[in-house]
Amino acid sequence: MTLRLRVHPGQASGSGMTSQRVRDRLVQRLRAAGIADENVLDAIGTVPRHLFVDEALATRAYEDTALPIGHSQTISQPWVVARMTEVLLAGRNPKTVLEVGTGSGYQAAVLAALGLEVYTVERIGDLLRLARKRLRQLGMNVRSKHDDGRVGWPEHAPYDAIIVTAAGPALVSALVEQLAPGGCLVAPVGGAAAQELVQVTRDADGQLQQATLAPVMFVPLLSGTLD
Ligand code: SAH
Repeated sequence: MTLRLRVHPGQASGSGMTSQRVRDRLVQRLRAAGIADENVLDAIGTVPRHLFVDEALATRAYEDTALPIGHSQTISQPWVVARMTEVLLAGRNPKTVLEVGTGSGYQAAVLAALGLEVYTVERIGDLLRLARKRLRQLGMNVRSKHDDGRVGWPEHAPYDAIIVTAAGPALVSALVEQLAPGGCLVAPVGGAAAQELVQVTRDADGQLQQATLAPVMFVPLLSGTLD
């Protein structure tokens, strides 16, 4: 696996509650909670999650919990990031991935650290600008677009993997259409009260298969864009 990350001294190393030791402890907790893909665990152990939240929350960045990132949005819980990433990789060797819902940029960074070519779309301009800045500072090459991600990013389709990090009432057919043969899509589906993580795979003949993986809780997938 290629971990592509440029880390400046004192930046990702952190101190106290943001140190490598604390990141390692999170990895141990995720392993105990059933995350088995060592490449995914390595990526979580490498990407400095505290740089993807406000400084005031940095000391909580290695708890296994979602945290607010402004605009009523959240950075996903590490277990959920790890699980979704693991599902996308399982038994496959994806090269390209489309993410809908850049948010903080953390999930995109984890995917990029795994050597994937990442395309990510975010509807809130403020969040996207901040995410781009963080990814750039870490030297991570992620392509991003300010748009309503429910249309996907057709110019670069099809994708080997698609990850949706906001919950819609149903699977978005435009996204399923942008999935390459042999590819895998994961998305939370449901309303404010109950959601499930759904996996869609497309086999080499183009046939789709769907499975429900786990109960989850995400912010809603909304239409349109905001500056
Ligand atoms: N993957 C993010 C999770 C952020 S929360 C991370 O690692 O931090 C989900 C994000 O999805 C929010 O930033 C929200 O603005 C965005 N979102 C919701 N609906 C969207 C849509 N239709 N298109 C693109 N982004 C959307």
